[in-house]
Amino acid sequence: MISITRQQLDLLVTLQENERQQERLQAERDRIPGKKAELEESLRAYEQQERQKQEEIAALKKNYRARENELELNQSRIKKRQTQLNSVKTNREYQSLLKEIDDIRSTNSRIEDASLQCLDEIDAAEKDLATKQQAHAEEKERIEAQQQELENTARQLQDRIDHLTQASAAIEEQLDADLVRQYRQLRKRCGGVAIAPVENAVCKGCYLNIPPQMYNELQRENELRMCPHCHRLIYVL
Ligand SMILES: [Zn+2]
Repeated sequence: MISITRQQLDLLVTLQENERQQERLQAERDRIPGKKAELEESLRAYEQQERQKQEEIAALKKNYRARENELELNQSRIKKRQTQLNSVKTNREYQSLLKEIDDIRSTNSRIEDASLQCLDEIDAAEKDLATKQQAHAEEKERIEAQQQELENTARQLQDRIDHLTQASAAIEEQLDADLVRQYRQLRKRCGGVAIAPVENAVCKGCYLNIPPQMYNELQRENELRMCPHCHRLIYVL
């Protein structure tokens, strides 16, 4: 048993409350970077979708340009054959050239249809991209606000932690060094709770009954005892 004044006992209990609160706040504070990263990550999906859409548009435009080039090439082929028409010698050659021109024209007509469809697809894809970019911008704004809020919370938590750290150091200065050492060892061994009150003969550290005689003595004297079950320091309120 340890003889202790009521004041020392109160200080020790407050020290434990402070330190436990500090640990809870620190754990909350430590979760914030992960939460921020999670928010950041949720924007990646938007970026990915936008990239895909941009690639799709680039491919469609490339396709469109290739068709336009083909059309131009066919136009010059038609012109060339039209010039040739002036210098053919036989009707057969003449008819054959006309047929070729006709074939090229119908090919071009098909290419033009496909080209127009391609333009429609580009238009639709660009509108889709704009919608996605708008949604992305709105989500980004929302997430930035949340991140700002998390940073504010982190700062507030840090302030409270710093305050508790200072308060604990001030308390520790007023306590007997051996008592503090014992308290620290017990806290490490007993899941963070070194000192527990006894209420109605029940140790609040392990929730087991302490022997009646020990309970009587605890109520009478300013002493710290050890719970016979969990070996924490016990006191009565
Ligand atoms: Zn106990």
